[in-house]
Amino acid sequence: MPEPTPTVVTVRAPAKINLHLGVGPVRPDGFHPLATAYQAISLCSSVSASPSTDWSVTCTPGEGIDVAAVPLDDSNLALRAARLLAEHAGVTTPVTLHIDKGIPVAGGLAGGSADGAAALLACDTLWELDTPRSTLLDLAGQLGSDVPFGLVGGSAAGHGRGEVVTPLTDTGRYDWVVLTDPVGMSTPAVYAEFDVLHDGLVVPDPEIPSALVDALAAGDARALAGSVGNDLQPASLRLRPELAEPLQAGLDATALAALVSGSGPTCLFLCEDADHAARVADAVSSYGRAVVASGPVEGATVL
Ligand code: ATP
Repeated sequence: MPEPTPTVVTVRAPAKINLHLGVGPVRPDGFHPLATAYQAISLCSSVSASPSTDWSVTCTPGEGIDVAAVPLDDSNLALRAARLLAEHAGVTTPVTLHIDKGIPVAGGLAGGSADGAAALLACDTLWELDTPRSTLLDLAGQLGSDVPFGLVGGSAAGHGRGEVVTPLTDTGRYDWVVLTDPVGMSTPAVYAEFDVLHDGLVVPDPEIPSALVDALAAGDARALAGSVGNDLQPASLRLRPELAEPLQAGLDATALAALVSGSGPTCLFLCEDADHAARVADAVSSYGRAVVASGPVEGATVL
């Protein structure tokens, strides 16, 4: 058998935050319709793909990141992405993937989804498929609700389960403190708590506030601060009441806004500029690992 071509393609993909996460009533299939405004921030992982004799994945943690919960079997999202694209395109040569994890795991930052998006693009490039963008986005949506946004990046609206992504005009650059917690939270558990909290109540169809869309178009961080929100936050706080403390500490330290990221437990603090973010990071650092990041950044990119 001929030796596989010794090539490697590396793709970087960003973490996502939800500037606004509107959650609608649970559907019969168990999913909740979402109306969310995503932003890609400068916390990134990268995935390298190279030809191999077997399908496999390895993972190296970035500083301060625990990868113990990252599966290294067929359930790994990067590996699932590679296999899905191979099946779609009729590729039979396996790849080995290596993930350099710069996004905390199970933190509400869509780290697994970023790996999936990166693997799709890496394999598409490695196999020289030139898959149409719309097909890659469709495959991404089959892998998970947040995977298409990992390809698109920037600031964008997400509808459906979050997989229907439309770019939003954003003229700003925003400085965030991202406070991560070593103990992740299960997204399904947070949605289940959301259902408990809304039992018997009429949950309206979710919408992205027009004030938020206007704030992004104007690139106005203060206006953005007035329109961020997360419908999952009460459920996350019920499961993790102690998160209220860092959120308040960030506001006491003059953060423009403080909110839980997605299903949590990561907390986000919007700041005026990088210096302000450094001060806010200092003020909340006793509660977890506080890193400064900026957004929006581009989606999955071949390095
Ligand atoms: P969600 O997208 O469900 O909101 P999250 O952003 O909170 O998740 P992730 O870092 O994506 O968190 O991890 C969620 C779970 O996905 C992990 O606990 C892990 O079991 C599984 N998983 C599968 N593949 C990966 C991967 N490549 N990296 C991280 N987690 C993965």
